[in-house]
Amino acid sequence: MRLDRFYRTRTSPSLSFEFFPPKTEAGEVRFWEAYRALAALGPDFVSITYGAGGSTRERTERIVVEIAREGAITPVAHLTCIGASEESLAALLGRYAEAGVVNILALRGDLPADDPAALAGPFRHATDLIRFIRARDGFAIACATYPEGHPESPHGPEDDARYLKLKQDLGACVAITQYFFNNDDYFRFVELAASMGVTIPIVPGIMPIRDFDQIARFSAQCGASIPEWLAARFAPVRGDAEAMEQLGIEIAIRQCEALLAGGAPGLHFYTLNRAHMSRAIVQALGLHARDRA
Ligand SMILES: Cc1cc2nc3c(=O)[nH]c(=O)nc-3n(C[C@H](O)[C@H](O)[C@H](O)COP(=O)(O)OP(=O)(O)OC[C@H]3O[C@@H](n4cnc5c(N)ncnc54)[C@H](O)[C@@H]3O)c2cc1C
Repeated sequence: MRLDRFYRTRTSPSLSFEFFPPKTEAGEVRFWEAYRALAALGPDFVSITYGAGGSTRERTERIVVEIAREGAITPVAHLTCIGASEESLAALLGRYAEAGVVNILALRGDLPADDPAALAGPFRHATDLIRFIRARDGFAIACATYPEGHPESPHGPEDDARYLKLKQDLGACVAITQYFFNNDDYFRFVELAASMGVTIPIVPGIMPIRDFDQIARFSAQCGASIPEWLAARFAPVRGDAEAMEQLGIEIAIRQCEALLAGGAPGLHFYTLNRAHMSRAIVQALGLHARDRA
């Protein structure tokens, strides 16, 4: 399945799950368990992160190619470009093409604080990578976007909507958002992007909250805000892992219902390599393959 054709012809909301490549043998076992449990729900695709959170890049390639070889679910390979050489990216894309991997989520990646030389490379933004991939035949390109504005965007969502239009013009066929907890931010962003000529689907990224404090810390870095109502709902269950997970599931179900009711073109779940919460949410929404067929 190619993402560009898929999103041109889909008749129901897309369903996708994001994983990171495992770092240890135990992590590898957990990854495949989570992958198989979620693959059983019949997602349209799964995506595998690249170099995020300290994971090595070879692992992304190995996992993506293994999923492609199995043939059950379409893999989307995340690819970051900051600090990379044209040669290394061309070689990786060549290997993906040979393995039948045709869908790439093109990203800049986070700026390396300890390696200023990375900024001197040929790739400064995801747009440079999209242009680079587009110059090669055979790939469908997805990109990232930020309903609340990327932390580096001086004018907030305005900047990200403008660059999303550029990403579309350069060849991206779908955008996946950073996670957010206030649906109004998403709907406002979709409207803003549409007013600038963005027509590609903007698929909301969903982060089910399993550990509120951890998410609050991470959100401060990646520019997702934590609404007061969310903190207030979690306050009584902090320290109770099971209650927190149950509440995280309930909140995500309500969020997803409202997103779909408002016309979101699909749902992309940040699974953190755990199946339980995403599966419970998808089943409650009746979004698994049988219901979407
Ligand atoms: C769905 C999703 C998946 C992700 N997967 C990964 C992953 O696998 N690995 C990983 O390391 N990170 C991942 N990230 C994080 C991402 O790499 C960081 O958020 C990074 O800081 C920005 O990447 P980007 O592709 O959005 O960059 P860009 O689109 O380049 O945006 C970065 C900043 O530059 C601005 N900008 C964009 N284009 C231009 C331009 N042409 N000229 C001037 N300014 C511009 C933007 O407004 C923004 O402020 C992911 C993020 C999302 C939302």
